[in-house]
Amino acid sequence: MSETKYIFVTGGVTSSLGKGIISASLAKLLQARGYKVTIQKFDPYINIDPGTLNPYEHGECYVTVDGHEADLDLGHYERFINTETTRANNITTGRIYQSVIDKERRGDYLGKTVQVVPHITDEIKRSVKQLGTKYKFDFVITEIGGVVGDIESLPFVESVRQLRWELGKNCLCIHLTYVPYIAAAKELKTKPTQHSVKQLQELGIQPDILVLRTEHELSQDIRRKVALFCNVEPNAVIQSIDMPSIYEVPLKMQEQGLDVVALKKMGMPVGEAPDLGPWKQFLTRMKSATEVVKIGLVGKYVELQDAYKSINESLLQAATYNDYKLKLISIHSEKLNDANAEEQLKDLDGILIAPGFGQRGIEGKFSAIKYARENNVPTLGICLGMQCMVIEFARNVLGFEDANSTEMDTKTPYNVIDLMEEQKGITNMGGTMRLGSYDCEFEKDSTPAKAYGSTTIQERHRHRFEFNSKYKTDFENAGMSCVGHNPETGLVEVVEIPSLKWFVGVQYHPEYNSTVLRPNPLFIDFVKAAINNKK
Ligand code: GLN
Repeated sequence: MSETKYIFVTGGVTSSLGKGIISASLAKLLQARGYKVTIQKFDPYINIDPGTLNPYEHGECYVTVDGHEADLDLGHYERFINTETTRANNITTGRIYQSVIDKERRGDYLGKTVQVVPHITDEIKRSVKQLGTKYKFDFVITEIGGVVGDIESLPFVESVRQLRWELGKNCLCIHLTYVPYIAAAKELKTKPTQHSVKQLQELGIQPDILVLRTEHELSQDIRRKVALFCNVEPNAVIQSIDMPSIYEVPLKMQEQGLDVVALKKMGMPVGEAPDLGPWKQFLTRMKSATEVVKIGLVGKYVELQDAYKSINESLLQAATYNDYKLKLISIHSEKLNDANAEEQLKDLDGILIAPGFGQRGIEGKFSAIKYARENNVPTLGICLGMQCMVIEFARNVLGFEDANSTEMDTKTPYNVIDLMEEQKGITNMGGTMRLGSYDCEFEKDSTPAKAYGSTTIQERHRHRFEFNSKYKTDFENAGMSCVGHNPETGLVEVVEIPSLKWFVGVQYHPEYNSTVLRPNPLFIDFVKAAINNKK
């Protein structure tokens, strides 16, 4: 395909309607037709990236292979289309302004007054187009975060208006809105949609396609009414009804021809509908599994739906590929202690100790690990979870009283987890952790080597602290082995207790690269061990 096509997805009425899932579903359908597709997210906030935001503000922070701390929607994009994203796939207002201000300081604007239009909008347009020009994608789908009409998203919407004019047929606008159901009147209401589209039109954009999020089936009448009031064709009014699984959304979009309408509007050949075979097989396996595997997730943010998004999805994928139904049980680490651990954990087939930062909830993680280790329950520790496995072992097996990570206790007599050397001079918090993909080499007969079927792999990272190699022999002599290392620095990437059924801690984050069609092998093996633990 010669020219890149640009598709914009905006949202109206309210946030949280699932723009990310709709964008990912359309990308999936276009990709299944053989096109090279990528998805990009613009976030209107001033932070340079979400790396410094806590999960109450922003849910999970996702990490790309090139070490960008990104919006969790990028995780959905990768899980749906199996294509890696990079820092070019997530842009914030903060980054746009930073880059414009840097240019101004360099003198690039040659004495001009620097303004929102055209300088900020030019920078936004450059960020959209670089995915097409530099990375040569056929389709770039750009999701604009927030809701149309917000003050902070105005420059992005204005950039879409300008691009639409510049790109002509190579540009398409999809607007996602909400159709509420008034229970007392037993009626679905389209007025918020009409208002939202009017607002978009006032900003100079006529949407080509409307996707209506709803909890009830929309009648043909409702679709015709929306089409009439909003200047779109009736077949370009698409319903997005709540589904039991987000992975069913691409099929629902295909049934209504979202990809076909999009292709036709951009003057492209339509051809046959792709059959999405492997995707459908995954869904069939997911829906037909009857036996249940119970995994406990121990963390301090378990009450938040999005805080451990990629871990939840990786476990679901792993259970599905083991032909089991996942029952994920949230265990709040702040409410866990040695006295109640048995009562809270005894019914679990496997335990996952979550990543995290800081002191809060850490003692509960130690209690969970102690219970799992002493009762031989399959356990996976990720990042801080792995570090907690090391600390618990130091305290309760090696007898290192008050052993800790220097993140929690700078004066600990046994700093079994310590700040990485390269981190010692760092004062800025944003984007300065050990981030992104690094090599890891496994010992030949270790559990991860068997799980991955390879002794060298790459996984993504996000941490400042590491296993203190000074104590390696103490651990190995007592039964906890370091079975994965970074080949260049020797940093310990994986620990395991080989005498237990399955007890592995990884410094890296395997959850970031688990996708529907390429599930992460470590998760598959962990869930398999949990299933075997049942029998
Ligand atoms: N807080 C730990 C560190 O910085 C672990 C980080 C994490 O779990 N992502 O090393």
